[in-house]
Amino acid sequence: MSGALLEIKGLTVVFDGFTALDGVDLAVEPGELRFLIGPNGAGKTTLIDVITGLTRPASGTAAFGGTDLTGLREHRIVRLGIGRTFQTSVVFEELTVVENLDLAAEFRRPLRALLRQRRGVSDTVAAALDTIGLGDLAGRPAGVLSHGQRQWLEIGMLLAQKPRLLLLDEPVAGMSRDERERTGELLTQIAADHTVIVVEHDMEFLRRYASRVTVLHEGRVLVEGDVASVQADPRVQEVYLGRTKKEAA
Ligand code: ADP
Ligand code: MG
Repeated sequence: MSGALLEIKGLTVVFDGFTALDGVDLAVEPGELRFLIGPNGAGKTTLIDVITGLTRPASGTAAFGGTDLTGLREHRIVRLGIGRTFQTSVVFEELTVVENLDLAAEFRRPLRALLRQRRGVSDTVAAALDTIGLGDLAGRPAGVLSHGQRQWLEIGMLLAQKPRLLLLDEPVAGMSRDERERTGELLTQIAADHTVIVVEHDMEFLRRYASRVTVLHEGRVLVEGDVASVQADPRVQEVYLGRTKKEAA
């Protein structure tokens, strides 16, 4: 028996005759911080889209705690405890940092609680604010945040929804070195009590923060293992690092 929180089997996605995912198997244990890498077009975002109900697979299953997610609507999947970020921002710029968190938290709150007059900041929102380290900017409009701070706010918005599994699609893309470092620490902290899947390309970032890595290539799992063995794998060097035999010579 598997102890996986997320168990994907034989997942295949076809867009107008193009096979974006081709029989993907993936098992992620509770509490893992799993990195998902692969060249552009490998199918990383499509995989996240299937897990979060945005894309329907042609075949295969994606079970979360034993429940098959394929066929469920997005909001049902959020309520089951799965949250994701997108490659493009979903922050409301005119709202303050804390208002953005509050809005995200309300997504899972029952109607009864929504109708009740709320005073101040909920414990959930306060905890999320503290984790992402934006306490000093709580009352500022999200529009003034730096790129890195905005990414942290998005992660905070997921935390406010109290997910068990977080899927982060290229969270450190475009970040400064310092912001990457803070993000790596944030991911490590979040992984202490969540299961996290991170799509990321940067090898230096992987070396510092990843343990188990899955490499996707042309819709298939090419290699899976710890960072060192994945990096040393010639198949990964060839397809992921783009190092062809000719270039290496
Ligand atoms: P990655 O995130 O690894 O860069 P994607 O999952 O976004 O890759 O895309 C995998 C492949 O599927 C790409 O070739 C992409 O062009 C294609 N693709 C993704 N979404 C769609 C779509 N909605 N319609 C058609 N093709 C798509
Ligand atoms: Mg992508």
